[in-house]
Formats: sequence, C-alpha cells, structure tokens
Amino acid sequence: MMILRILALWIATAFRANPRLTILMCATTVLGSALAPISVYGVKLIIDGATGADTLLLGVAVTTITLLVSTAANQIAGPFGDTLDDQVVRYVYDDLLRLTTGIPSLAHHENPELADRVSMIERDAYQLGGIWRMLMTIGVVSGVTTVIVLLSSVDPLLNLLLLLALLPAAVSALMLYRRNNLWRTNERFRRLANEVTDVLAEAKHGVEVRCFGLVGPLVQVVRNGMDARRIPWVAMTRRYGLLEGLAWLIFGAGYAVAIVGVLGWAQAGQATAGDVILIVLIGPQVATTAHSVAANLAIVIGATQTFGRYQWLRDYATSQSWSGSVGAPPERLTDGIRFEGVSFSYPGTTTTVLDDVDLVLPAGRTVAFVGENGAGKSTLVKLLARLYDPTDGQVTVDGTALTSFDPAAWRERISAGFQDFATFEFLASDSVGVGDLKRRDDRAVLDDAVRSGEAAPVIASLPDGLDSMLGRRFTGGVGLSGGQWQRLALARAFMRPEPLVMLLDEPTAALDPEAEAAIYDRYGQAARELAERTGAVTILVSHRFSTVRMADLIVVVADGKISEYGSHADLLAAGGRYARLFELQARAYR
Ligand code: ADP
Repeated sequence: MMILRILALWIATAFRANPRLTILMCATTVLGSALAPISVYGVKLIIDGATGADTLLLGVAVTTITLLVSTAANQIAGPFGDTLDDQVVRYVYDDLLRLTTGIPSLAHHENPELADRVSMIERDAYQLGGIWRMLMTIGVVSGVTTVIVLLSSVDPLLNLLLLLALLPAAVSALMLYRRNNLWRTNERFRRLANEVTDVLAEAKHGVEVRCFGLVGPLVQVVRNGMDARRIPWVAMTRRYGLLEGLAWLIFGAGYAVAIVGVLGWAQAGQATAGDVILIVLIGPQVATTAHSVAANLAIVIGATQTFGRYQWLRDYATSQSWSGSVGAPPERLTDGIRFEGVSFSYPGTTTTVLDDVDLVLPAGRTVAFVGENGAGKSTLVKLLARLYDPTDGQVTVDGTALTSFDPAAWRERISAGFQDFATFEFLASDSVGVGDLKRRDDRAVLDDAVRSGEAAPVIASLPDGLDSMLGRRFTGGVGLSGGQWQRLALARAFMRPEPLVMLLDEPTAALDPEAEAAIYDRYGQAARELAERTGAVTILVSHRFSTVRMADLIVVVADGKISEYGSHADLLAAGGRYARLFELQARAYR
C-alpha cells in the first residue's frame, strides 16, 4: 500500500513540475531502450541474408530504422532529461520549504527524525529526477525480453548467460540499497558537521570561538563527523566492489564458454554463421542490459527511499497543519484567557515542564510572570502564542478553546517582544515593518513603532535612516550592536494595532537600565490604551522587580506550577517566595 502511494507521489511530482516534458521523456525513454536490441536482430537477418537466406532487405530496413530512431531518442533524452530533473528538484525544494514552514507549531524544529529526513531529501533531491527514470525500467524489461528472444533463437540454454550477467547486477543493487541505509543511519553526523561548520563561520559566534580557543577542537569535531559517515561507507563500497568484480569474471568465463559452444554447433552443422555472429555481438548487449537492470534498480530503490521520506514529510505536515482550527478570534476580550488544567512536556521529551496549571489572565490587565530560570515562564508564553499545544488540559480565550482559532489569525492578534529576538538583516524599514506585514510600507506607522520601541536613536544613526540595509554579511549593510537590534525588535512589537495579547518575555535584556525604564513606561502606556480598546492582556516576564511592580497581577511560577498569585501588595503581605525575592533585590540596590 505504502509503495503504491510512493509511486503515485513519484509520478505526480514529475507531472506537477512539468507535464509536457514528462510525457516527452517517457516516450523517448521507452523508444530508446526498447529499440537497441532489435537492431542487433537486424544484423543477424543481414548476415543470414548474405549466406543464402531471403532476409537481406528486411535486415537492412530493421537495422537502419531502429538505429535512426533510437539514436534520435537518445539524443533528445540527455538535455531534456537533465532539464526535467532540474525542474523536479526545484519543485521539491519549494515544496519542502512550503511544507516545513507551513507547519504552524514549533515542535518540528526540535524533531531530530524530521531534521534527518529533510536534510536527506535535500541531499538526494537529484535522485527525484524524472519518472522517466522509472520508465527506463520498462525499457530495461523490454531490453531483457529482446535479449531472451535472441538468445533462445540460437538455443534456450544460452539464457544462462543472462542469469550470469544478472549476478553482478544483483550485487551492485544490494550495495546501493545498503549504502543508502548507511547514509540514513549516519545522517546525524552530517548535520552535526554542518551545524558546527556554521558555528565556525558565523560572526556572532566569532568572539567566543576565538577567545576560548575553540577553532581547533571544533574543526576536529567537523572532521570526526565527516569520518563517522565516510569510513564505513568507503569500506562497504570496497567490499561490494570486489564482489561485483568477481561476478563479472564469472560472466566473462560463461561468455567464452558460450562462444566456443556455438562455434562447435556451427561446425557440426547445428547452427548457422548468423548464430555465431549473433552470440559474439550479443555478449556485450547482455552485459549492458544486465548493467542497466542494476542501474535502474538502484535508481528505483534510491528514488523510492527518497520519495518515501518525502511522503512521510507530507503526511507529517498534514497531520500537524491544525487544519481543524479555522475559527476567528474575538474582536475584543471581555473575560480573559484561562489555563485549565494545563500540563506540558516538550515534544520528544518526558520531562513535565508545566504540571496541571490553572491560571486566569483577566482581560485588560497586566500580568507579570516571575520565577527562577527554568521554572516554566517562557513555556507559558509559548503556549499563549500557540507555538505548541498543551499535552493535557486547554487554554481558553473568553471561554473558547485556543485550538479552535486559525493559528495565523490568532498570531495576528498577538504582539510580542522576546529575549531571543530575531535579527532580520533586511532594510531597516522592513526589519521593523515585518511586525505587521500589511502596514509595513506605512511610514507614519513605522515612525510610531520606532518611537515606541525607543529605536529612534538607532534609526537616526543609520546612513539612510529607515532605508538603510542592515547586517554586515552583504555589501553595503550596517552592523548593529545587540542592544540596537533589540530596540528594532521592540519597535517591531509595536507595529500591530489591535493585539489581544501583548507578550513581553524579557524583551529588554540587552538594554541599559535607562532605556529599559523608558521602554516599560511606553509598555505601561500601550497596555492601558490596549486594555481600553481591545481588553488586551499584557504579559510581562522579567527578573527586575522595579518592572514587575507595575503589573496588576503577579504570578510566581515554580517547578512548573503556580506557587503564588496576587497583586504586589498582596504577595508582599503574604510573606512568601515573592516577598523574599523582592526583599533580596531591594537590599542589593540599597
Ligand atoms: P523560564 O522561562 O522560566 O526560564 P522555560 O519555560 O524556558 O523557563 O523552561 C522551562 C523548562 O523547560 C526548563 O527546564 C527547560 O529546560 C525546558 N525547555 C525549555 N525549552 C525547551 C525545549 N525547546 N525543549 C525541551 N525542553 C525545553
């Protein structure tokens, strides 16, 4: 069943990439591979004709026509085949990108099995080539049939020769199959080597890599990763190469015996001169046919494996598409957002990061999440953005399950600033503007966002203001400091006009205290305005109690649970963990 789906995908992919070329290639492939052996039969007719039989003209006609047609077909096959292969590969690359980026959750970014498969499909994309390669198999089958007919026309016993020739073919197909499996098992080493190569190449790691003297050891890691893949592969190739050579020797011996045998029959008057010439001519043809059986088997095996991975990925993307989530989020919040018995483990792990959390985030309020590193604060934020779904329980928005909203529509109603913000090396206007794609060209909106994100001094320092290119990797780009990048990220977070949730996960970690205070003033103001307009909830994750204090509600997260919940004054009065931490920080500043 699975193999049928894979074959269907194989065929469908070629037709989607370029239907006309696919048909042309199928036709020429079948012609090209089926006709060559027939021309050999034409030669036999000519020779029989020359030695008395009445087949000379027919022989000349068969030989000329088949040679002409198959040469033309083969000529076309080269360049058009390459073009089709190229188009299929491009189509598959596009589709891979569409599939993997179309998955709305983040889970797949952390799935090593998926990463292995995607990177193998990319590497093997050239094998996805045309389905015409699959059709070459048909050509091969007809080639084999012709060879059998020709051999049998002399003596059925001679078919043993074909069997002998298939021996090396089988060895080489087996090698390919096993080598492909070896690649798959060891793909992680290639990803490791690539990853470490990136670390070595990227400017942002440059300082630490050099200060800690990591260049040598990391280069060694790359080398070891490559070796871990290469060495067993080479060993396997050598082993099977020897076996294949041996098999060809056996075929050669069989071929010699066959020629001597037919010669003997001819002397005894049991075979014609045409038979002798035929057997001499057909030897290489048998070898070529067997070779193409092996080559095609290899191609089919390789492509089936690659298309199998491709199919797996498509199924995975479909299963993760949240296609049932189509609802529209509310225009404004009236009640708020609730976590109801939410438990969560990151995909592929068994550690419970959130454990049966019940939490109310009332509409129009600012809520601060505090707690130690690793307590689960950012995880709560990620669940709010629906970057993951809870393992258990649910998040509801004004009583409606978050999972019922179209994930894209929900994210349009979120504005977010993160500690691990992205550095988009675009034009400065786009780096900010992508915060709200629909309005990214609206200069008035951009200016407002830049001002709110305290990024005006950054933009002013750029040679062409908002029209400057950012990032040093391409000519003409301007390099920015971490703090400057963060201000742009903050400006980006101010682009959305009507969010229902404002998520601020330590978004000022790279800023100086003065800028941070200014930013939080802006946030406070924005939060109040939004609360009026859309009943938005503002979530604040921060380690600084001076900012935490401004929240209406404080949620203390500890070990994946909510350990305290209330206003600053309530929690201080309660004298629990929050009060202790607050005291500790206040004392440090005194
Ligand atoms: P906080 O924001 O409170 O510092 P997080 O919510 O980031 O804490 O992390 C909570 C726990 O989840 C930590 O133990 C962390 O190791 C784990 N964790 C965070 N992100 C991932 C991830 N992508 N995959 C697996 N575990 C993760």
